[in-house]
Amino acid sequence: MSTAPFILLQVFAFLWAASLGSFLNVVIYRLPLGMSLSRPGSRCSSCLTPIRWFDNVPVLSWWVLRGRCRACGARFSPRYMLIELVCGVLGLALWRSTVDPLDPDTFTTMMALWIWLQIFVFSLVAIAFIDLEHTFIPEEISIPVIILGLAGGFFIPGLDPLPQVLGALVGGGFLLAVTGVGWLIYRREAMGLGDAMLLALIGAFLGVAALPFVLVAAACQAMVAVIVARLYQRATGRSAGLTLTTEELDARFGDTERHADLASHTVIPFGPFLALGALEALFFGHDLIWRLADALVALVVA
Ligand SMILES: [Zn+2]
Repeated sequence: MSTAPFILLQVFAFLWAASLGSFLNVVIYRLPLGMSLSRPGSRCSSCLTPIRWFDNVPVLSWWVLRGRCRACGARFSPRYMLIELVCGVLGLALWRSTVDPLDPDTFTTMMALWIWLQIFVFSLVAIAFIDLEHTFIPEEISIPVIILGLAGGFFIPGLDPLPQVLGALVGGGFLLAVTGVGWLIYRREAMGLGDAMLLALIGAFLGVAALPFVLVAAACQAMVAVIVARLYQRATGRSAGLTLTTEELDARFGDTERHADLASHTVIPFGPFLALGALEALFFGHDLIWRLADALVALVVA
């Protein structure tokens, strides 16, 4: 078999995933606002002109129109194009790492695995961007996706449901415990219920052994991001957009007394970093996951 059909399949995998990214843009924008996902169709948020199908090609249209509305010239955020591009690349990487089109015996199983992992990866993308903008993780996404994650463990050949069930329970339980302890010490939510749901979701797909890696990777990268954001804030006097000051939190949640003594603290949404850690675990983490899990087991046993 020549390589041409191979490349065509990969192009298809990219375009398919970029189109899903286009739909995720709608979810990320509308779901937190309680708007319908299907109606009205995509339109310019300035002039309300419906976006025509040929202007709605993932990634490409943004470049052709230079990020502007064809009707009124209003600028669209590059975030829309960025999310489509990220989804396309993730979809292509998933296809390349799960499906072998030359192996007819495993093809159906691989396709099932591919679809299942797409549910995982694209729900992570949606959750990360919603959390980044609104500092909450919608249960409308996390709960059904946890169920689909566990279902995959039972129905897709080659997967083992037990580590996944444990992953959901331990992941959710661990962050709930952290939230409880944080509340007792600081009288303030360090993690929310949404973060606990997200780690349960990650555990439901990656299994319990991946959780230490995901948590360590998320915490390290969140720390780096806080340091960079603070340096940026100090240098420019402007918010980096990533972090919320407690004043901004008060404005959002209307809870002034709770944060009064913590006025100088910087709060950062943890969800995007958990999602990032989970993607790193999925694509690069196999060796590290097991080394870290073994080290933890050795520590507990010793
Ligand atoms: Zn417009």
